[in-house]
Amino acid sequence: MSAEQEVVVSVDRARCVGTGLCAATAPADLELGPDGRARPRRPRSDAVDEVTDAAELCPMEAIAVHRAATGERVAPLW
Ligand code: SF4
Repeated sequence: MSAEQEVVVSVDRARCVGTGLCAATAPADLELGPDGRARPRRPRSDAVDEVTDAAELCPMEAIAVHRAATGERVAPLW
């Protein structure tokens, strides 16, 4: 995957309730921190399918995925 397709994953930690669903879905990009809330593991990701799934599965809608090059929102799209 080219750098143009990379995405940035962000977590609204105030909304996160620590289910761990995102870390199980996209383990390369999301993990639970010491406070039990999710956080990104790297500044950019090429695992677009996994992080998109994680954003769409989060029950708190706490995860957002944006295209790194353009800022376009990739997920969730509702
Ligand atoms: S799926 Fe959502 S609520 Fe659950 S740990 Fe991840 S960010 Fe937090």
